[in-house]
Amino acid sequence: MSLNKKAYIVPHTHWDREWYFSTEESQVLLVFTMQQILEQLEQDEGMPCFVLDGQSVMLEDYLSVVPEDTARVTELVKCGKLLVGPWYTQTDQCVVHGESQLRNLFWGCRDAKRFGAVMKVGYVPDSFGQSEQLPQLLQHFDIDKCVFWRGIWEGITENTEFIWRAPNGSKVTTAVLEFGYSAFQGMKPIGCHLDGIDQKMTERFWPGERENFLFMGGHDQKPWQSETVAEIHNANVERQYSYQLCSFEDYFSVTTEKPLAIVESEMLYGKYSRIHRGIYSTRYDIKKLNSNVENLIVNQLEPLLTVANSLGMKYPYGLMEKNWKQLMQSHAHDSIGGCNTDSVNRQVLARIQAVRENAERLKDITLKQLADASTKGLEGEFVLAFNPLPYQRDAMVELELVLPTRQFVLHDGDDLVDVHSIDCQLVDINAIVQDPTTLGDERFKSWYRHRIIASLHALPACGYRSLMVERLADKEADIDGNAESARDQNQLQMIQNEYLSVNVDTTGKVSLTNTVSGEHWEDLLTLVDGGDDGDNYDFSEPYKDYQVILQANPNNIKVSQGALRSTICISYQVKLPNNLQDRADKLCTTEQTAVLELSLEKGSDQIEIHIHLDNQVDDHRLQLHVNGNFLGQETIADQPIGLIRRGNDEQALSVWQEQEWTSCPVAIYPMQSVVAGETEQGGIAILTDGIREYQQYHESIAITLFRAVGYVGKPELKYRPGRLSGLPDASPDSQLKQPLSFRLALYPFKGKAVEAGLCYRAKHWLTTPLTLHNGVVQRFMIAPPLFEAPECFSLMFFDHPELAVSAIKATEDESGAVIFRLLNSGMQPTELGDLPSGWQVEIANGMEQPIGKATSSTMVPSQGLIALRMCKTLSK
Ligand SMILES: [Zn+2]
Repeated sequence: MSLNKKAYIVPHTHWDREWYFSTEESQVLLVFTMQQILEQLEQDEGMPCFVLDGQSVMLEDYLSVVPEDTARVTELVKCGKLLVGPWYTQTDQCVVHGESQLRNLFWGCRDAKRFGAVMKVGYVPDSFGQSEQLPQLLQHFDIDKCVFWRGIWEGITENTEFIWRAPNGSKVTTAVLEFGYSAFQGMKPIGCHLDGIDQKMTERFWPGERENFLFMGGHDQKPWQSETVAEIHNANVERQYSYQLCSFEDYFSVTTEKPLAIVESEMLYGKYSRIHRGIYSTRYDIKKLNSNVENLIVNQLEPLLTVANSLGMKYPYGLMEKNWKQLMQSHAHDSIGGCNTDSVNRQVLARIQAVRENAERLKDITLKQLADASTKGLEGEFVLAFNPLPYQRDAMVELELVLPTRQFVLHDGDDLVDVHSIDCQLVDINAIVQDPTTLGDERFKSWYRHRIIASLHALPACGYRSLMVERLADKEADIDGNAESARDQNQLQMIQNEYLSVNVDTTGKVSLTNTVSGEHWEDLLTLVDGGDDGDNYDFSEPYKDYQVILQANPNNIKVSQGALRSTICISYQVKLPNNLQDRADKLCTTEQTAVLELSLEKGSDQIEIHIHLDNQVDDHRLQLHVNGNFLGQETIADQPIGLIRRGNDEQALSVWQEQEWTSCPVAIYPMQSVVAGETEQGGIAILTDGIREYQQYHESIAITLFRAVGYVGKPELKYRPGRLSGLPDASPDSQLKQPLSFRLALYPFKGKAVEAGLCYRAKHWLTTPLTLHNGVVQRFMIAPPLFEAPECFSLMFFDHPELAVSAIKATEDESGAVIFRLLNSGMQPTELGDLPSGWQVEIANGMEQPIGKATSSTMVPSQGLIALRMCKTLSK
């Protein structure tokens, strides 16, 4: 019996704002494309709707240069013909911060609503893999439907429609774009479009006979092909199958009549569509800068602005909207992927750089305002210390002071602050200060710029206090500096603190002992340099690889001991193959130096790791292997919300070649900032600051520090057979021949990884307190604060070991309320516990609107997030 197959065709265009063309070029194209779409929707009654690629930025781009069309657009959005949002840009889900993805939905929905309506479908046509947490992100914004293309195969489900459930229980009805987003790929003559669609419905990729098929009528950056309306009208009379132009809602109303299977999974499989797992480490410079700016805004700047706002400083809503939008423009899948031409990658980098400059100045000036307001009328010179986290904390903080004296002390009330000098240099203040009263003044010629580590105690919860600076005449104080220890050729070099002991032998092998638990690891860290025959999309092992393990010379291992921080510094001088050909020939001629620094700080149960090098060779990948003797082949890593457990996928690895998958399901995975392996008694967590890829090996975890490749796309890769991806353009910038530095930490834990508070720890590690020496030297002159502030202040207190802070920010409705978003990365649901006192607390949705009352017994599901909307209660 032949089925009455029906094609549901959703009119759309997929809009990459930049790729092998710039945003400037795509905006010109957009102006012409939009005019045709608007005209078609207004004139052609056979056109039911048009999907603007699920991203509201297209309207922003269009109306910024054609503002006279605002009323036309609004009319079409209101009557449901022009479908916009819910995203702001078509974001990547793997390597951008979870908060960035939430803000992407926030601004996308908010901007779409300004025109009258949001398309309530989490439409993701092209992103390179879907996070397991996408259903939860969508549900936070009351979106209960999802449509995506990449990353799924029958190993996950045999259905093309299903209920996709996130680990916290959030569900979205989901349809897979079995045939991608390009049903109308070329500009074909009338009558030919449906031939391809018929063929696809007959042959189909997915198993199982079905009646209903979803097609996207459009392609990358293509105008609407207006003849299709008539073609479909005629075809319904003449052809064997039937056809309908429709919206996603129309398709869901037909296909979800029957009960659907429930699916829980991330979607990272390249069976039917390329997934580009190597993209997580393409262009480390872009990834690192983006991650640093996300951390600056989410972890530091927003809490700081919220505190200052609560004391009377105006919240800079406009600046922050600009910063977020500019950042999210670089979060589109190609943009942050780095799979662009070099000139476009430079624009992506420059755009993120611009956000950083804006955010850094906003941070500095807000700190200065708080410092001035809180010490007004006090005698003396101060350092303001601000703690963004909502619990009191001690912290080892690096800070800078510029003083006329070589010696000084910091007073914390009656106590002296422990200080360790990193660097002290003579500077001429006249060259760095914009204060005309000091210009040319001889007294400012020779001041000291001190870089120090200070051990700060009991910083107020989400608040600040000041330390007093006392300038001293020479020889009064003893600032602890680094004392380099004499090295004995035959001995281990060692540093240790209250928890850990790190040893390096004469060949540079690192061993670690947890002196509390007794657990010990030999030869823990290895830097491995291997070939990369891939392109900007995918890592691919060369057909003839030759790996080099970096080994140190005993003369190049140095230890410096300080009271607050001790460091072992290992320098490497190795010869590496210059390119893939040399690597195949095992010809190592190019000298490469690298430095690995391992530090222990007083009172810390983590090892801090810094790696520096100036990359000299092409077509390679450098990984740091953490040889933890981990059990089995499982890792626990963080994702946009909470943790995920992953294994080497034996099932997929055993069938990919035989089934002709688009790419090898190699165990390369994305992470946010922590990945852990488990041992018999505990394990080791690896924290990363701006590195978002790891690879799982048998007993070790390798962090991909960077990949260096020379093409946007290359054909016939070992890990990705067949055609090239993108374009065949050379991209010499992607070889990253430049100085590169990396920051990580290792945390040996006891017990299970999921019970080790990894998300809480990563947030804590990445949230450095802010300091400002409010001395003579200020780069810019700032107007005095228009508000008053107490000497010491705490906005709110909240501390729950299971709940990591995701965000603290003022609500965008300018009401003075605060959004406090938390996530539970534990395996069990947990009660909120004690709520911040002095606040009226409600549960909020992603749009920051209250949806219910929060109490101390409100449950937060495992791997779930909760947003609290808090308003200050009036104090008597
Ligand atoms: Zn795309």
